[in-house]
Amino acid sequence: MSKPIALLSVYDKTDLLHLAKGLESAGVRLLGSGGTAKKIREAGIPIEDVSDITKAPEMLGGRVKTLHPTVHGGILARSIESDEKDLQAQGISPISIVVCNLYPFTETISKPNCTLADAVEEIDIGGVTLLRAAAKNHARVSILSDPSDYKEFLEAWTKGNGDVGQTVRSKLALKAFEMTAKYDEAISGYFRQQYASAELSAEQLAGPVQRMTLRYGANPHQKPAQAYVTEGPLPFKVLCGSPGYINLLDALNSYALVKELQEALNLPAAASFKHVSPAGAAVGVELDETEKKVYGVDDLKEPLTPLASAYARARGADRMSSFGDFVALSAPCDLATARIISREVSDGIIAPGYSKEALDVLSKKKGGKYCVLEIDPNYTPPEVETKQVYGVHLQQKRNDSKIDSQLFQNIVTKNKDLPSGAITDLIVATLALKYTQSNSVAYAFHGSIIGIGAGQQSRIHCTRLAGGKADLWWLRHHPRVLAIPFKKGVKRAEKANAIDLYVSGEELEGGEKEHWESLFEGPVEPLTSTEKKEWAAKLDGVACSSDAFFPFPDNVHRARKSGVKYLAAPNGSVMDEECIKAADEHDIVFAHTSLRLFHH
Ligand code: 5GP
Repeated sequence: MSKPIALLSVYDKTDLLHLAKGLESAGVRLLGSGGTAKKIREAGIPIEDVSDITKAPEMLGGRVKTLHPTVHGGILARSIESDEKDLQAQGISPISIVVCNLYPFTETISKPNCTLADAVEEIDIGGVTLLRAAAKNHARVSILSDPSDYKEFLEAWTKGNGDVGQTVRSKLALKAFEMTAKYDEAISGYFRQQYASAELSAEQLAGPVQRMTLRYGANPHQKPAQAYVTEGPLPFKVLCGSPGYINLLDALNSYALVKELQEALNLPAAASFKHVSPAGAAVGVELDETEKKVYGVDDLKEPLTPLASAYARARGADRMSSFGDFVALSAPCDLATARIISREVSDGIIAPGYSKEALDVLSKKKGGKYCVLEIDPNYTPPEVETKQVYGVHLQQKRNDSKIDSQLFQNIVTKNKDLPSGAITDLIVATLALKYTQSNSVAYAFHGSIIGIGAGQQSRIHCTRLAGGKADLWWLRHHPRVLAIPFKKGVKRAEKANAIDLYVSGEELEGGEKEHWESLFEGPVEPLTSTEKKEWAAKLDGVACSSDAFFPFPDNVHRARKSGVKYLAAPNGSVMDEECIKAADEHDIVFAHTSLRLFHH
């Protein structure tokens, strides 16, 4: 029987001689590419040159060494009759072991003087082909891509009398594929940098691009920063301004939310995001005259379209938190919506299109620097998403769970009366949670989030935080608040802050008190705690959803204090029964969803 053949072609020659000696002593015939064969031969170990079997010399200054049917036929042939016949017909011997590692592309490009030509020359072609061919045929071939595996391999080879076993070959194949994947990623990353890193002009960004440079990452010292996709163009174009890293986190999360809201409720939807959680989100339910005042759109000249109503609600629910927001719209932005945005302090917008008038208005905002992104409404993100934390890749299937009325069918309380308006509100609240940093709890009313508690470590803190916001939102409807006599010229954001101080009952002193009082035409009497209580009791029919189960009934009791009548949360807590009991005590309708919605 002819000797098994090992082909050796390595850039990193660590432990090479030890391996070659071991293989040779175990009766393996050695073949090597130029430098590899030379080093082994000089150590007195018998080895043939690859060119001896290919009958083709290395050429093009080393660009072609092992790329030959004799080599790749020998590696790729399976142990089946037809492949063996093919080898025989061509006089090719099967190869059992391939030892290969690659030119050091990453080290080369990190040298300060590395030119494009240097980098190009450092792209290993034949080595990658050897690795992939041998790894592909790991049913028969062993691929050694890492010197640290040599010792163990030699032992297994000797012990198995020339057969290391499938488990070893499979593990080695996986390692080789990981090596080529990482190598290719380094190359594509380098070329992305070279060919797409120049600051793109506004015109270029308004067309499809695969990559864009960002000013910086989450903080100004985190440079360089970029956004890119590995296939095709980015799903959005930049029509105005230049998005930052956090803008894009907001834009991509918020658009996903409004797109799903519109799909679920068949109404235009809007969101107002800050720090990758919604400050508000709503669908286009018409506003009554009081709501128009509360949301600060009573003085708008344009009549409110359904889309404008959605944004008015999303933006107006928590005006303080929405200061400097990133806006997402589910439908092309119209003039009325653009007019609302134009009066607010905002960072940017993402929408699947803009009317000409709307774009004219938005592109004048922030001295022409307002960030306007146009998303492709037909874009479907990949099913699997990956992020890297502290150098570790974390991968998961995208959260593609559908949130619709079906989710709230398992009503576990005595009261099972869930009207369609409440289902709308539960969908709005639950969908908002799907895109809110966890833990989270949301309260919704009239198709709009009215209070959201995001990113808290304990559930009750979320429920309190969201409830507290809902309470302030409701107090803003109080006739005394609506009648606050603001002086002419007080800015919208200043009004929002002053109202927040008023309804929260914050004790003011010194300069802060003076400034606050200076905003009004006359004295403004505080709301007494009795007045507040009486007003709070008038709020009812609020929906509340939680992104995970309630661990204690305190959450249910707290929710009720903010007018909650409809509740949705996954089941699974040892306290489920206690929570249901608490809901029954308040005649609340409680649906168990069996769907956890953590988002990080
Ligand atoms: P040697 O030192 O043996 O001359 O070269 C070893 C290196 O060449 C290894 O890193 C291997 O990946 C690479 N290599 C093997 N075959 C080819 C080929 O056909 N073309 C190129 N460009 N590199 C090859």
